[in-house]
Amino acid sequence: MSTPLSWNRLPRLSPDQVQRLTKPALINQDPKDGPFTFYGNGRSYGDVCLTDTGTLLQTRDLDRFIEFDPALGVIQCQPGVTLDEILSLVVPQGWFLPITPGTRYATVGGAIANDVHGKNHHAMGSFGHHVKAIELVRSNGQHFTCSSIDNEPWFQATIGGLGLTGLIASATIQLMRIQSPWMWVESHRFTNLDEFWQLNRELEARWPYTVAWVDCLATGRSRGRGVLYAASHAPAQTSAPAPFKERSRSIPFESPVSLINSASLWAFNQFYYHKPVNPGGALTHYVPYFYPLDSIHHWNRIYGRAGFYQYQCVLPPETAQTAVSELLKTIARHREGSFLAVLKTFGDQPPAGMLSFPRPGATLALDFPNRGARTQRLFEVLDRVISEAGGALYPAKDARMPGWLFRQGYPEWEAFSGFIDPQLTSHFWKRVTQ
Ligand SMILES: Cc1cc2nc3c(=O)[nH]c(=O)nc-3n(C[C@H](O)[C@H](O)[C@H](O)COP(=O)(O)OP(=O)(O)OC[C@H]3O[C@@H](n4cnc5c(N)ncnc54)[C@H](O)[C@@H]3O)c2cc1C
Repeated sequence: MSTPLSWNRLPRLSPDQVQRLTKPALINQDPKDGPFTFYGNGRSYGDVCLTDTGTLLQTRDLDRFIEFDPALGVIQCQPGVTLDEILSLVVPQGWFLPITPGTRYATVGGAIANDVHGKNHHAMGSFGHHVKAIELVRSNGQHFTCSSIDNEPWFQATIGGLGLTGLIASATIQLMRIQSPWMWVESHRFTNLDEFWQLNRELEARWPYTVAWVDCLATGRSRGRGVLYAASHAPAQTSAPAPFKERSRSIPFESPVSLINSASLWAFNQFYYHKPVNPGGALTHYVPYFYPLDSIHHWNRIYGRAGFYQYQCVLPPETAQTAVSELLKTIARHREGSFLAVLKTFGDQPPAGMLSFPRPGATLALDFPNRGARTQRLFEVLDRVISEAGGALYPAKDARMPGWLFRQGYPEWEAFSGFIDPQLTSHFWKRVTQ
C-alpha cells in the first residue's frame, strides 16, 4: 500500500506503519507502535495529517451514522463519515450542514480538528460553532463526552485541535433547515480592491454566502480585480431549471511537471475575469455551487510530482485592506500568480476553539506550484507582511510555515499543549513547536 499523501502532495513522508482504525478505541493500539497521527481523508494541504515516525491511523472506516433526528436536525456520527455522506442523507429531508468547506470529501473528524469554515463565516461562524458534543477517546483509556456544558475546556481544545487531544470517536452536529437543494447565486465583477471592499460590505449585509475570486496577476489600478459571488439557499417554491445530474471528470495521471505556468495562468485569469457575470442571479444546484473543484477528480495532479503549496492567511480588520494589497503587490512583483485566489471576510464571532484559524478579519487563500527555493523566497516575504499585520496562517493549508509565525498567530498554543495526548503527534506540530 502506498503511503497516504495530503492534498497538495507534499511533504512526502514515510511513517513506520499505516493502519486503518476499525474501532473507535485508541487504547487497543500497542503503545510501542506510537506515536500516532490521525488521517481522515487527506484533504488538508500539508502535514497536519502526516507523520514521519510511529503509526498513521486512518479513520475513514469509522463511517457509521449513530443517530439522526429529522424533526430537530441533530445528527450523531462516527468521525470517518464524510460531509458528502451526511448531505446525501439529510438534504432530501430538508436539512443542510450549517458550515461546509470547499470540498465535500472532508470527514467529520477532519472538519472538527481543523475547525473548517465556509463562504458563510460572516453569518454562521465555523464548523465548531455547530458541534453540540464530541466523544473523545484518550490513549490512557479515558473516554468522555465534551460539549459547551460538559468538560468545556476539552471541547475548546479539540475544536481546531489538529487531532492532538485524542481520537474524536463521534460528533453530534446541529444541522440547518433548507427548503430546496438549489442555491440562488449572483455574481458581480469588481475592477480593483477598493471596489471589492465596498461591494463586499454591501453584499455581506444581505447574503449568507459571499466569496470572491481575485486575479492576482493584475497590477496598478486593476490590482485585486475579480468576481464576487453572493448566494443563499433557494426558497421552497423555486422550481428546478432541470433535474440535477452530476458531471465529473478526472485527471488520469500525475503530470511530470506542473501544468500551471505563467502562460496558462495568464490565459485562465483573463478568461475568468472577463467571462459573463450574472448580477441578476440564477439558480445553481448546491453541489456545483459549494464544490466546483470536487467535480474534477485528482485535480491536484496538474501541479505535477513536485506538488504545490496553498498559502492561506487571516488578517485583522484594522490591517486587512493594506495587507491584502501588499500581498498581491508582492506576488505580482515576484512574477508568481495563483490559479486559485480566494478573498473573503470573516465575521465577528469569537473563535470556537483554542487554535481555531477563523477570527474577525479577512482571509486570502492562494495556490502556488512548488518551484523550490524561488517559491520559498516568495513565502518569506509574504510571511513578513502577515506578521507585521498581526495575522496568521492556516495550519490545514500549510506545509512550510516557520514555527515563530505559528506561535505568534496562535498565542494559546502553550496553554493548548496541556491538552495534547502524550501518544499523539503530527509532522506539523513537531515542525512548528520544536
Ligand atoms: C478542494 C478543497 C477545498 C477546501 N476548502 C476549504 C474551505 O473552504 N475551508 C476550510 O476550512 N478548509 C478547506 N479545505 C481544507 C479541508 O476542509 C480541511 O483540511 C479538512 O480538515 C480535511 O478533512 P479530512 O477529513 O480530509 O482530514 P485530514 O486532512 O486527513 O486531517 C485533518 C486533521 O484532522 C485530524 N483528524 C482526522 N480525523 C480525526 C479523528 N477522528 N480524531 C481526531 N483528529 C482527527 C488529523 O489528524 C488532522 O490533524 C479544502 C480542501 C480541499 C481539498
